Amino acid sequence: MKKFLLAANWKMNMDIKETEGFFNDLKLKPNDYYDVYVAVPFTDIYLANKTKKSNDIKIGAQNIYFEDKGAFTGEISTKMIKSCGAEFVIIGHSERREIFKECDEMINKKVLKAIDDDVEVILCVGETLSEREDGGHFDKIEKQLKADLLGVDASKLNSFAIAYEPIWAIGTGKSASKEDAEEMCRFVREKVKLMNPNLAQKLRVLYGGSVKDSNAADLAKEENIDGFLIGGASLKSESFESIAKEI
Ligand code: PEP
Repeated sequence: MKKFLLAANWKMNMDIKETEGFFNDLKLKPNDYYDVYVAVPFTDIYLANKTKKSNDIKIGAQNIYFEDKGAFTGEISTKMIKSCGAEFVIIGHSERREIFKECDEMINKKVLKAIDDDVEVILCVGETLSEREDGGHFDKIEKQLKADLLGVDASKLNSFAIAYEPIWAIGTGKSASKEDAEEMCRFVREKVKLMNPNLAQKLRVLYGGSVKDSNAADLAKEENIDGFLIGGASLKSESFESIAKEI
């Protein structure tokens, strides 16, 4: 049995004081059933790492740039996040793709850079509502996987996660049904198996999109859902913990 992954994505929320309060309050500890990862804003990585009560909780970033250093105003490297204690990074979140116009080519470069520098990756893929309504959702996910995973050498990896996050379910309160989430997570696993069998062996497929305590147990029971990426419900220690209780 693969260990479930509970991954929080704070997005652009939580200043230093709020971060300290969150980790002071958080009683949640990784155990035999689940790992706990928290992706915080860059400015909170160092403090989150110092304040967390369990060494086994991994702190991560929500983005990186794919160069080591230089004239890239506003960007942050893998080396920088690692020096603050980050162990993983979310790459290709739909907010990065849609708002900041990150393309698959750039996302692929970031994935390769993170792997090269030993930073664990959570790669996000997902379709818009109109793509799903037009029946183009499988093609969209396959295209993203092919482009974003190009050249990945799985022999260097211990683990890798892909989060299926339908864009219409993120922050809307309207989760995908467990059947739709399971169907796409299975599709992701099968496609990765065909594209890169070594990677598939190390892969956890997560679902993200309005996960909360009321839908967590049903989603977690699905065979191909190995974890959650949780936005809104991860901002309060109690609601994050109440999801964990359902696993
Ligand atoms: C996310 O930010 O990746 C996410 C899934 O957000 P939410 O849980 O708020 O839908």
